[in-house]
Amino acid sequence: MSDTIRLGDIEIELTRKAVKHAHLSVHPPHGRVSLVAPAGTRLEVARAFAITKLAWIRQQRSQLREQAREVPRRFVQRETHYLWGRRHLLAIRIADAKPAVSLDHRRITLTIRPDTSTAKRAEVMHAWHKSLLHAVVPALIRKWEHRLGVRVSAYFLQRMKTKWGSCNHRAGHIRLNTELVTKPKDLLEYVVVHEMLHLVEPNHSERFVELLTQHYPAWREARADLNDLPLPAERWERN
Ligand SMILES: [Zn+2]
Repeated sequence: MSDTIRLGDIEIELTRKAVKHAHLSVHPPHGRVSLVAPAGTRLEVARAFAITKLAWIRQQRSQLREQAREVPRRFVQRETHYLWGRRHLLAIRIADAKPAVSLDHRRITLTIRPDTSTAKRAEVMHAWHKSLLHAVVPALIRKWEHRLGVRVSAYFLQRMKTKWGSCNHRAGHIRLNTELVTKPKDLLEYVVVHEMLHLVEPNHSERFVELLTQHYPAWREARADLNDLPLPAERWERN
């Protein structure tokens, strides 16, 4: 018989078995939590036990997240790369030609010269990611400038370690994390809307939440997806 224990944002799957002691586990890659308890353990008892382990659960989860972030991309044949939320396989083509990236269904082909270093491969890929984002971001900004009645004087794309986006309220600039190219497009749109709303309301005030709810009702789901999606997931810091 299985039950679910909910502790805030943590869901624990409870299974009762013929075991002597309760056993709690946090499973990779996404931090699913399970609790195996002796047969006949009451839900309240299991719940009380889980509460005493809450700090440990959170620590295990943040460790998993940390490891996930550190999976180094090597840009080699058949490596998995995400694009707009979909998994693609990388193909490496060695040619004495200008480095380039092309996309064909579920395959990303990286063309490089012989003996190209990992750092250089990453650079070529990053430039391609930026070009994909530049192809869609201006239209998103225009759409939301119109809806929100604000103007973005410039946007920037860059690698960011801890944020999906940021906003310079005074200058009217927004910054977007290039990693967003790996997420579904609606999440990119959410980050664009979120940062553009900061041009109206710089802080995460009640008014900000109201405006966000009005213009992007599914923002909670979007924010949760940005925290949970497959790798390399980075933390969404509320900024
Ligand atoms: Zn914000």
